[in-house]
Amino acid sequence: MDRMDPTRLHLACPHCAATNRVPAARIGDEPVCGRCGKPLLDGRPIELGDADFDAVVTASKVPVLVDFWAPWCGPCRAMAPAFEQASRTLKGRALLVKVNSDENPALSARYAVRSIPTLVRLSGGRETQRQSGALPAGAIVALAGA
Ligand SMILES: [Zn+2]
Repeated sequence: MDRMDPTRLHLACPHCAATNRVPAARIGDEPVCGRCGKPLLDGRPIELGDADFDAVVTASKVPVLVDFWAPWCGPCRAMAPAFEQASRTLKGRALLVKVNSDENPALSARYAVRSIPTLVRLSGGRETQRQSGALPAGAIVALAGA
């Protein structure tokens, strides 16, 4: 099934809502929507999970900052706007990723996530920084650049 191909991400266009399948290796190249031609990411964080996380992290030419979160977590929801703001600030310099820890137990176990939100910075696929607890946008930017 197409959905199981981990090298192609399903991204909903923020402008026309069309679903686009983007090769993981192209995620840093400012992919555009196949229907309306507008940018698919626009500096927004992308949602990844157990199925497609590795393909993107392996292909990313820039550091990846992962936000492990869950919908029931108040501090996670409170931090979401700051994370989106940091993502726009870091566009082209770092890739900001959200992982729903409830829906992706394999990733949560691999990174030993014990509390959320937890931010994990990966460079070349290796963990270089980690911070638990909600942060303001400036601190998220600093963590991604560390
Ligand atoms: Zn579109």
